[in-house]
Amino acid sequence: MSASRDTVDPTGLPNFERLQRLHQAVVGCTRCGLSTTRTNAVPGSGPCPAEIMIVGEAPGFNEDVQGKPFVGQAGKLLDTLLAGIGLRREEVYITNVLKCRPPQNRDPMPNEVEACANYLTWQLKLVEPKVVIVLGRHALERLLPGHGPISRVHGQMVDHDGLKYVAVYHPAAALHNGSLINDLQADFLSVRRYLDEVLVPPPPPEPEVPVAPYAPPQQLTLL
Ligand code: URA
Repeated sequence: MSASRDTVDPTGLPNFERLQRLHQAVVGCTRCGLSTTRTNAVPGSGPCPAEIMIVGEAPGFNEDVQGKPFVGQAGKLLDTLLAGIGLRREEVYITNVLKCRPPQNRDPMPNEVEACANYLTWQLKLVEPKVVIVLGRHALERLLPGHGPISRVHGQMVDHDGLKYVAVYHPAAALHNGSLINDLQADFLSVRRYLDEVLVPPPPPEPEVPVAPYAPPQQLTLL
């Protein structure tokens, strides 16, 4: 998966509009069986371009009802974790590996991940994130295959295919297993440190050198 920095497509549409078209394609998608059980597809939300992109697993009950990612309990925890490192949800682009809810929130199946694969690949290209936050093991398997289990990789920055990724535990996992919450908070503090390294603010503009008014050369006088 290559995240090339092409900003304009051959028809001249800016990335933001191409992403809107991708969202519309997701809303009408029938590539796998989840299209027959969903209430709404959940393409993603947030600015384009965005310096930070977050990728979760799949919509749950509330996301399926509203058509928006991370609007349930896990989303509330995600908002709190983002706020803890000085970020607001409106600043980040959020999506999932699967765009439709698996029945009873079961794990994604390989054919479903495959059916959605191109959507996520194109979201990465169009949003052009500087850092991708990977939530949980399913997003880790999809985005960083072969990099090891979430228990080992979480909290570390990984360079892959020209992008920087940080995998963290999934907020829903911490809601189910309270012992993960400290790890999750520590993961987000690591994310903040990486962001501070990667999102270097542009240098301040050079101060303008005042132009001295023209003064004719002085005649040297011999004493
Ligand atoms: N869990 C996810 O992985 N994604 C959502 O959108 C909501 C809960």
